[in-house]
Amino acid sequence: MLKSLAGRTVIVTGGSKGIGRGLALRFGEAGLNVLVVSRHLDQAEKVAKEIGSGASAFVADVADPAACEAMAAEAVGRYGSIDVLCANAGIFPAAKLGEMTAADFDQVIGVNLKGSFLSVSACLPQMKRQNRGRIVLTSSITGPITGYPGWTHYGASKAGQLGFMRTAAVELAPWNITVNAVMPGNILTEGLDGMGEDYLAAMAASIPMKRLGSVADIANTALFFASEEAGYITGQTIVVDGGQVLPESLGALEAMG
Ligand code: NAP
Repeated sequence: MLKSLAGRTVIVTGGSKGIGRGLALRFGEAGLNVLVVSRHLDQAEKVAKEIGSGASAFVADVADPAACEAMAAEAVGRYGSIDVLCANAGIFPAAKLGEMTAADFDQVIGVNLKGSFLSVSACLPQMKRQNRGRIVLTSSITGPITGYPGWTHYGASKAGQLGFMRTAAVELAPWNITVNAVMPGNILTEGLDGMGEDYLAAMAASIPMKRLGSVADIANTALFFASEEAGYITGQTIVVDGGQVLPESLGALEAMG
């Protein structure tokens, strides 16, 4: 049983949908104040309402330094602390090499990687004042471990987050600020709605556990990284993918029976 984090404050970027919504709901359930951040107020407010008292919504584009500063100021002004930052906001438009433009590349790096840097930077002054903080990045298996056609920019951004994390963890350790990353495999989110049962079944078939992950699978891991008990863990990753990266070939999957 982990010690309660009730009364602490978490900022969840990209909290209006998908994995971020799962993070926001799980941290809210654990009793934390939750600042749900996205670019659309109505959608962030919907999640804040679902959580109930102690949750509120804020509009910020994580690619914008001033917006990230305003986000951190809102958390401190409203709740008095920033105990946890879930730097989760991310985009994944597909474009193969040869078609991908410099602007496409900049956009994905700008939100996923630079957005992580900007979100972290904005929260640091308060975390340093507290002499305590937990930063949890949502990376991916795509990039650090695997590849997927159309996602060279995305993979670079997700691998880049881990490079950022390792040096940030070293720099911030003197303030008891930990920086860790969850690496999700294929997670069932609203983004996959409408893809059809055959598509989802094919995805599940490539995973040893034969199911897609849930947003709760990711949120529980992030909550562990945010816990008191994880205070001596920094610069580390946990792959949450039902074993997806493990089979060495299609034959290995078929041999499971
Ligand atoms: P999603 O359902 O599309 O949600 C993305 C969230 O990010 C939304 O709340 C979106 O809200 C917000 N967002 C996008 N751009 C933003 C920006 N510039 N500033 C602030 N917020 C922004 O995506 P998801 O699947 O949950 O993915 C969340 C994270 O998990 C991403 O970092 C992704 O790389 C990672 N991930 C996902 C999977 C998966 O299977 N789903 C697997 C591995 C990793 P607005 O549009 O309102 O801003």
